[in-house]
Amino acid sequence: MQQFDYIIAGAGASGLSLAWKMLHSPLSEKKILVLDQSLTPTNDKTWCFWDTADPLFADLIYQKWTQAEVSIFGKRSTKHLNDYTYYCLRSGDFYNHILSSLEDHPNFNLLETTVKELSFDGHNPILKTETNSFKADYIFQSCFTPWDKTEDHPRHPLLQHFLGWEITTSKPVFDDSFFTLMDFDQTFEDGIAFMYLLPWSRTSALIEYTIFSDTLLDKKQYEEKISIYLNNRYNLKPIDYSIERKEFGKIPMEDRPHKPWYKPGILNLGTIGGVTKPSTGYTFKRIQKQTDAIVEDLLSKGTLEPQPPSKKRFKAYDLWLLQIIDQHPKDAFRIFNHLLKNNSLDDVFRFLAEESSIRDDLKIMNSVPVCPFPESYLEDSWTP
Ligand SMILES: Cc1cc2nc3c(=O)[nH]c(=O)nc-3n(C[C@H](O)[C@H](O)[C@H](O)COP(=O)(O)OP(=O)(O)OC[C@H]3O[C@@H](n4cnc5c(N)ncnc54)[C@H](O)[C@@H]3O)c2cc1C
Repeated sequence: MQQFDYIIAGAGASGLSLAWKMLHSPLSEKKILVLDQSLTPTNDKTWCFWDTADPLFADLIYQKWTQAEVSIFGKRSTKHLNDYTYYCLRSGDFYNHILSSLEDHPNFNLLETTVKELSFDGHNPILKTETNSFKADYIFQSCFTPWDKTEDHPRHPLLQHFLGWEITTSKPVFDDSFFTLMDFDQTFEDGIAFMYLLPWSRTSALIEYTIFSDTLLDKKQYEEKISIYLNNRYNLKPIDYSIERKEFGKIPMEDRPHKPWYKPGILNLGTIGGVTKPSTGYTFKRIQKQTDAIVEDLLSKGTLEPQPPSKKRFKAYDLWLLQIIDQHPKDAFRIFNHLLKNNSLDDVFRFLAEESSIRDDLKIMNSVPVCPFPESYLEDSWTP
């Protein structure tokens, strides 16, 4: 059986972020195996996040904005970002850049294969494919859910689901000085739903119809909403634009407790490592935090001591919101609207990035309608 120091199983956002950080640290002296079922870079995702300083992967940033449009109770307004910039990068650029750097390094081995099983033999974590077995000191995996299907059910099985079109228009219609963060569907036909629009230029944009709910729609239904929106907002008929690419996503709004380990020596990474912010679906920046901490632990201690992705009070706010989205979606809709109406976007972003103080949090809480705070959640999330 071939032995490695570390195995990274799954070369998506989290696996490649970790590999990239290992490559640029003394850990590059270790023997590292990176596997994925496909190592062909594809533009299947557009990752956005906000940051105060120059972000990591700055050379890969495709577009950035310091103004955002929000539509609150049907009224449109543009909000300025002073402390943060909103950045966007394309997954194809990210995969390409990192995979080609890893290919050039003698200590990194890339293998395109499907992982069949991850186990622990009493001494080492083991990874099995159809034809091979590998062992390592640590395996970092983003392939398999750590939840036992028969026992571990989420309390509120919510998803953030969306379908997006990247379009090119025959006439200049977009204002690329701002992006549209949330243009709420006031009809409430699909529950809490909104348009998200990232203009790349006056004639091209990614537009997504996004819903927070437990039920996926038929793909045609998301597309119909986008088509109607383009017509109503920009007077664009199907003949006025071409669809260059489609993007579909369903991100779990996870309310189960954080499970750092899949098996002994096998750490869960990225979304299945509980890193996705439950109430928003934003993950990319939190993956950077998780992978920074892993590299730091390995360098300083040689072992891993994973921390929960959120402080307890932020976890409690998220669980509170999930419960309202699930059981009282109209109240959640009002909360989102008031949150955006009564606060600066910097304050909202600071709160959602979990960089706010308790005083900031109280200001945010006072700005939204009063809703019950379920006691059971408080107990769960505040108990050490
Ligand atoms: C369309 C879309 C857009 C998103 N946009 C944003 C955004 O703007 N901002 C943000 O913060 N978050 C966003 N997210 C959420 C999150 O950032 C992404 O889902 C991100 O890709 C999660 O990273 P990950 O490493 O956990 O999973 P992935 O990137 O999905 O990586 C998992 C990898 O494991 C591989 N794999 C799985 N099973 C096996 C197996 N058995 N054998 C071998 N390989 C396997 C897969 O091929 C994949 O490459 C988005 C998600 C989606 C789906």
